[in-house]
Amino acid sequence: MQGDVIHDIFVIGGGINGCGIARDAAGRGYSVVLAEMKDFASGTSSASTKLIHGGLRYLEHYEFRLVREALMEREVLWAMAPHVIWPMRFVLPFQKGGLRPAWLIRLGLFLYDYIGGRKLLPATRTLDLAKDPAGRPLKTLFRKAFEYSDGWVDDARLVVLNARDAADRGADIRTATAVVNARRENGHWVVETENAETGARETMQARMLVNAAGPWVDRVLSSAVGRNDVHNVRLVQGSHIVVKKKFSDPRAYFFQNPDGRIMFAIPYQEEFTLIGTTDRDYQGDPRDVRIADEEIDYLCASASEYFAEPVVRDDIVWTYSGVRPLFDDGANKAQEATRDYVLKVEGADGQAPLLNIFGGKLTTYRRLAEAALDKIGEAIGVKGARWTAHSRLPGGDFNVDGFEAEVKTLSARFPFLQPAHARRLVRLYGTRASALLGDARTTEDMGRHFGSDLYEAEVRWLMREEWARHAEDVLWRRTKRGLHISAAEAAVLEDYMQGR
Ligand SMILES: Cc1cc2nc3c(=O)[nH]c(=O)nc-3n(C[C@H](O)[C@H](O)[C@H](O)COP(=O)(O)OP(=O)(O)OC[C@H]3O[C@@H](n4cnc5c(N)ncnc54)[C@H](O)[C@@H]3O)c2cc1C
Repeated sequence: MQGDVIHDIFVIGGGINGCGIARDAAGRGYSVVLAEMKDFASGTSSASTKLIHGGLRYLEHYEFRLVREALMEREVLWAMAPHVIWPMRFVLPFQKGGLRPAWLIRLGLFLYDYIGGRKLLPATRTLDLAKDPAGRPLKTLFRKAFEYSDGWVDDARLVVLNARDAADRGADIRTATAVVNARRENGHWVVETENAETGARETMQARMLVNAAGPWVDRVLSSAVGRNDVHNVRLVQGSHIVVKKKFSDPRAYFFQNPDGRIMFAIPYQEEFTLIGTTDRDYQGDPRDVRIADEEIDYLCASASEYFAEPVVRDDIVWTYSGVRPLFDDGANKAQEATRDYVLKVEGADGQAPLLNIFGGKLTTYRRLAEAALDKIGEAIGVKGARWTAHSRLPGGDFNVDGFEAEVKTLSARFPFLQPAHARRLVRLYGTRASALLGDARTTEDMGRHFGSDLYEAEVRWLMREEWARHAEDVLWRRTKRGLHISAAEAAVLEDYMQGR
């Protein structure tokens, strides 16, 4: 049955860009529907290096607009969601005779410090690695380093918090809903969706269509909108390995490989180190992307060039891989393709407009959404003004330096929580952690135990408030408990979730 209601905007894709646009639009008073074919952030948006960063490397490609905008966003996003975003210091070891001379790195970091509206993040400094603890895990040939600021983000949670907020502001948000067809009829869009679990089809109408399908953006155009010969994005695979902790310093490392690529080694989930990324062109369905053997070898070998203790395959506890949907600007090498976003509106006079989103970064998603809303306003009429810069995402309504105070408050209210558990809950849910725990007075009150510190109360919250449907959604996107839970425990969780 075709719905009679004509919505303002239909968004395809529940990655950071689709959810960011849906939230901004709903907050301005547009009626919005968003369809995600699998789960939020199940595409590229949970497979990133998880940095809120200017992108030091992009300065080499003269991407000043992008770098400046991204740098400015660091403190804006931190204030919006201080539970899932926080500052991180990066140590960039410097080697005489290396690929880039010290003056060039210093110049880049000078720009980094001064073009990006930095107010709270500390400035760059130089380290003597013989004295500074950052030098301890490294080979002794590294004597000097620069230390600079960027930010860290729980990428998958950033996405779901945008979806939650969009829904709280009135958007109709659906997961497991693939857009299979979209056609123009009588000046608006008729969009057909298919439920991934039941196969049920539904038709909805909207004045404007937003294609935010990330690496599937061209596929949506060819398969759902019926275009031939579409080629707007270049798919570039990037993989990461997660290894047993290689260092205890809270700072991350930025390494410059001799082949010109850069690589990060980042403290991850208390017990691990995250190492990545690679950059290689990708063909095929983005859903099937997996780390290749040679990428594992490359990451282990490269990291072993810097750390005194080599990184070997046996250290690896998890790997993940994603596909960057970069706007195809014809660059020769994958790592040189632009990281900037491009928004294109299609639709002649009288035709229902279509907005395609190409490229983008987690860091610039909020600005991308504002730019998308400018285009939407031009196409179907302006509603509301820009509002997200000073907004808070769900659970993020505390000060940027207030994390420890939040942990204290939660621990005082729920004294049975282990300290690490309380910290984890505040990191994930911020001020909403108390609502998640409700009236619990003892560990038993949190319900069934699924392994690690995952209890029924949290799983139920994730199913009710955050659209979690499968164990995978809970273990690898809403939380990273998958790193601490066995396959048998995950199977029990899946049974529990399917039984509810
Ligand atoms: C290895 C790597 C490292 C990165 N590191 C960083 C970083 O440190 N910092 C940073 O700022 N950025 C980083 N990025 C970039 C960033 O992750 C991406 O730009 C961003 O996640 C893209 O989001 P998106 O919403 O466009 O795409 P996606 O997250 O892929 O979302 C698109 C969604 O559309 C859905 N979809 C597709 N087709 C349909 C359909 N027919 N119907 C319904 N839904 C559909 C998909 O299921 C998917 O969930 C990195 C990217 C990669 C690959």
